[in-house]
Amino acid sequence: MVDEQVVIIGAGMSGLAAGIRLAHFGKHVLIVEKHRIPGGLNSYYWRNGRRMDVGLHAVTNYVPVGRKQAPLPKLLSQLRLAREELDLCPQRWSEIRFPGCTLRFSNDIELLFSDVRDRFPGQVDRLRRLTQHVEAFDDKRLDVEPGSARQVLREYLSEPLLAEMILCPVMYYGCAREHDMEFVHFATTYKSIFCEGLARPRDGVQRFIGALVKRYKAAGGQLRLGDGVARLDVHGGRVRGVRLESGEELPCDLVFSCAGYYETMRLCSDVKEPPAAADLGRLSVIEAISILDRPPADFGLDAAVVFFNDAEQFPYACPSGPVETGSGVICCPNNFERHEDLPEGVIRSTALARYEDWAGLGDEEYARAKREWCERLSTRVESFAPGFREHVLDSDLFTPRTIHRFTGRLNGALYGAPQKLRDGRTRLDNLFICGTDQGLVGIVGALLSGIWMANLHVLARS
Ligand SMILES: Cc1cc2nc3c(=O)[nH]c(=O)nc-3n(C[C@H](O)[C@H](O)[C@H](O)COP(=O)(O)OP(=O)(O)OC[C@H]3O[C@@H](n4cnc5c(N)ncnc54)[C@H](O)[C@@H]3O)c2cc1C
Repeated sequence: MVDEQVVIIGAGMSGLAAGIRLAHFGKHVLIVEKHRIPGGLNSYYWRNGRRMDVGLHAVTNYVPVGRKQAPLPKLLSQLRLAREELDLCPQRWSEIRFPGCTLRFSNDIELLFSDVRDRFPGQVDRLRRLTQHVEAFDDKRLDVEPGSARQVLREYLSEPLLAEMILCPVMYYGCAREHDMEFVHFATTYKSIFCEGLARPRDGVQRFIGALVKRYKAAGGQLRLGDGVARLDVHGGRVRGVRLESGEELPCDLVFSCAGYYETMRLCSDVKEPPAAADLGRLSVIEAISILDRPPADFGLDAAVVFFNDAEQFPYACPSGPVETGSGVICCPNNFERHEDLPEGVIRSTALARYEDWAGLGDEEYARAKREWCERLSTRVESFAPGFREHVLDSDLFTPRTIHRFTGRLNGALYGAPQKLRDGRTRLDNLFICGTDQGLVGIVGALLSGIWMANLHVLARS
């Protein structure tokens, strides 16, 4: 078993985590990443001399040092990473803003309970009971029954507006399905945001990725950047070999993929049909990054993250046009602890977007659409931060098309396909899915998924 050759498709968070686990236990592991920078959805690029983070508002699951029975310390221990290597800075507080009602939450859930007590008399004990139910729910089981999060919320909370407000951050940070969420995914994400909390690596995402790559290489793992997997040669129900875009052929005993389920299946030599459109994820986003000459708090934005929605109901769905700015997420890195000395202010704003409207545009039309929607999203953000636009030094926008280009995710679907493969198994004996399409999303979720799948399919049987 020790000499097994493992190929991992993609250096996303889950691919890196699976690679570290397998390399620690003596497997020959090669991660093949299409792009020159690892990290996948959670990566960075350079623009006008500044490093711009792509997929980082906040790291979920933050718990203070000393709280051992939580995913974050377990993850660090499984990856043999020291907490200091990530230099996580907790949020001060975040907000959920709906018309006429704002709820704050921090890494101490009592702040949420206290705001709920003030704004929704009679609901706080119900929310406490919901929280107990969620905390007692075993979301690590492989055989969970399907269940609707909205249904459970209705059972516990008698105030519909409160239910919608709770769903807003949970869906934005972890839901691949439109309109409703599998209860198991709701439970995982609710715990990760409200019962644990939000933080940010002080030096952004590069530090995070750097720490993972360093650990992986120190454990003996190999990383090939800038060369994608073009084909998986399938015979007799197994992957027999991997062909790279460069033409090189690699032997393999086991393959893990964080590229997405349908995206991986399309690589298999025995698959002739494209996946059915109805099976693919449709939820994508645009994200505008504005660099300011002063901190966002100068314009009244003093929360770490603001989740907003313009109506009493929260319609989490693929928009009918290019972008829907009626709800969204605004993140201000300056509003995390120990971030006071960031040299510039940053506002990241995210809104739901539809891939089809971006995919087919010619270069000029695409550039025009980006300018237009950057403007429109900024107008929306200005309602929370009046005057900020006069202080923008630089800005950039990425779109569903950017997500597709840099990760290969079909439809630029942020959280992948709606149907998840909880045990990571595919119809091929030696091909496993980790990360987004296994069902754990977000940075910590993807890392946990990589660890879980490596432990389940390789280390548990070694
Ligand atoms: C705008 C935005 C904001 C986000 N904000 C947050 C946040 O604040 N907090 C949070 O926790 N999460 C956030 N996320 C989500 C988080 O980044 C992802 O859920 C997580 O990184 C997914 O990791 P993954 O391992 O599943 O896959 P991915 O990151 O999708 O990685 C897949 C990798 O596979 C590679 N690949 C694909 N096909 C091939 C091939 N054929 N050959 C070789 N390589 C291939 C891709 O290039 C990519 O590197 C955000 C994402 C986005 C886009």
